[in-house]
Amino acid sequence: MTQGKPPETAAATSVESSVQSSTEKSAEHWMQLALAAARQAQLLGEVPVGAVLVREGQLVAAGFNRPISTHDPSAHAEMAALREGARLLGNYRLPDCELYVTLEPCAMCAGAMLHARLKKVIFGAHDPKTGAGGSVINLFGEAQLNHQTVVEGGVLAQECGDLLKAFFAARRAAARAAPKNNPDPL
Ligand SMILES: [Zn+2]
Repeated sequence: MTQGKPPETAAATSVESSVQSSTEKSAEHWMQLALAAARQAQLLGEVPVGAVLVREGQLVAAGFNRPISTHDPSAHAEMAALREGARLLGNYRLPDCELYVTLEPCAMCAGAMLHARLKKVIFGAHDPKTGAGGSVINLFGEAQLNHQTVVEGGVLAQECGDLLKAFFAARRAAARAAPKNNPDPL
């Protein structure tokens, strides 16, 4: 009599769990999306850094690094994701949002995130040269500033870092191959 019940129950449970998982994506899931954005930057010859803005488990906006092609020193991945997200949400304050970025934010981006009252920032690789999420300074936890944002680093750090290392290695190789064509070899 109840032979049909177990499969139905199992199906219902399966749907329920998939709905739940879609609203509770892992940090690695969002970082993978940020990595996809970083690869878009790489296609343009830009340093491959990508970011996504997430609100209550939903993707709001993505951005990637493109200061060279836009002639804009502020065109970092985080700035692009913040601008697009704020525009879409119709609010320059983003207190319910989390931002995932493949590289530790610089001071400019950290400042913009504090202005946005961002809830949390999660980054991949550490940046020992310009990182403002703890490597050089930690602007997010500066008690004298009027707002603090939770910061977490090291999510998919290896993958995020490897993308950058491969990019710079290829650029150095290209510079060695044609030094006269590249006035600013790294
Ligand atoms: Zn930045």
